[in-house]
Amino acid sequence: MDRVGYPSGVDEQSPIIDLFSDTYFMGQALREARKAFAAGEVPVGAVVVRDGKIISRAWNQVEMLRDGTAHAEMLALTSAEQAVGDRRLDGCTLYVTKEPCIMCAGAIILCRPQRVVFGCPDPKAGAVGGWINVLDIGPPLNHRCEIASGILADESLHLLQTFFRAARDRVKANRLTGAAEDEEI
Ligand SMILES: [Zn+2]
Repeated sequence: MDRVGYPSGVDEQSPIIDLFSDTYFMGQALREARKAFAAGEVPVGAVVVRDGKIISRAWNQVEMLRDGTAHAEMLALTSAEQAVGDRRLDGCTLYVTKEPCIMCAGAIILCRPQRVVFGCPDPKAGAVGGWINVLDIGPPLNHRCEIASGILADESLHLLQTFFRAARDRVKANRLTGAAEDEEI
């Protein structure tokens, strides 16, 4: 964990919560993902941060809104634009628990957050390096973000795996909702 900025004299043995760290904000995104899990949605959560403050929060609501575009990142980006009052998210960081898909990577290009931090990679459908890297594709899509990954990746992946395991069990019980097949990683 990045400890730059702690006041001197901090007891290194005591647990420290750095309210400005990537781990803290990813923890907040994970809280959103757990809301999705509780609602029977693929558990992905996102927050957008500017100047050390969370300006939007969202969780995947594809089933609830009956909208295939209602990924956590899309909802969080839209809400952040409203908070900022601009379609460009200069100086903002998007935290999302799973690597963004190609749609969300496209939205990131258009909304222009400065940084994107994600939890677990998605080797099947991730568009930030897992499958392809849309954020580093070059002209004419010339917005490049700083990218960080692997923050609370185990927790994010565990939540997804638990969700899909339960969904498979439901398939076996012949009660598939249809929600779980699309995005399994
Ligand atoms: Zn997406």
